[in-house]
Amino acid sequence: MEPLLKVSSLHVRYGAVQAVRGVDFEIREGEIVAFLGANGAGKSSTLNAIAGLVEAHAGTIEFAGRDITDLAPETLTPLGLALSPEGRRVFPALSVAENLLMGAYSVKDKTKVKDAWERVYSLFPILHDRKDQLAGTLSGGQQQMLAVGRALMSGPRLLLLDEPSLGLAPLIVEQVFELITILRDQKVTIALVEQNVAKSLEIADRGYILSGGQVVGAGAASDLMSEGGLEDTFLGA
Ligand code: ATP
Repeated sequence: MEPLLKVSSLHVRYGAVQAVRGVDFEIREGEIVAFLGANGAGKSSTLNAIAGLVEAHAGTIEFAGRDITDLAPETLTPLGLALSPEGRRVFPALSVAENLLMGAYSVKDKTKVKDAWERVYSLFPILHDRKDQLAGTLSGGQQQMLAVGRALMSGPRLLLLDEPSLGLAPLIVEQVFELITILRDQKVTIALVEQNVAKSLEIADRGYILSGGQVVGAGAASDLMSEGGLEDTFLGA
């Protein structure tokens, strides 16, 4: 079966900085795939290139058999691709419900938007309790849930999650990882960028290790986990 996402020889540059240097990987439908590596390894740049937020300097990105390399984010959302960005990036002066609505901008059918709201509220009851509250007044963990919830509003086939557990209290981190497995059970395919190596490999099917903008390791999550020492070797921990 052809992969849902296929990235070939991807390069991303910011001026003279070569952030991603010839990355290849694929994600099959239904998988959770973890992307691990130190700060600056090129993980966010890779996700952002897939999501159309930064330009692919070279290489190709195929999604569901279609070349999406040069497509803009607003074109990608209706195709079934959504990103929950690093650093939460919610709209602080909008309510929780309005933030969620922003994630459904490509959904024209009002009933579908209502269903999406219901689905997100059932995943995150706290967001329902706070739906009229301004997003800027939520706790860090709640803002993170809102960012993930917003990405889910378009009903994505592939969800790109950039460091969803960053800066969260341990209990909330547990909830975030549990949520990711629930989403997988609901047939959402997930690309997960994380600093939390152990937890990511626990829930992931496979993983890729990035360093210096290149893939330096790949394999089944269980194999990567048993290799051990990953955090020391690759993350400079
Ligand atoms: P982090 O976990 O810190 O986000 P990362 O693995 O996601 O790390 P990237 O954020 O993709 O890595 O960064 C890769 C390289 O590109 C780094 O050297 C970084 O400094 C550089 N970089 C990232 N964004 C920009 C930008 N907007 N302008 C210039 N350089 C950038």
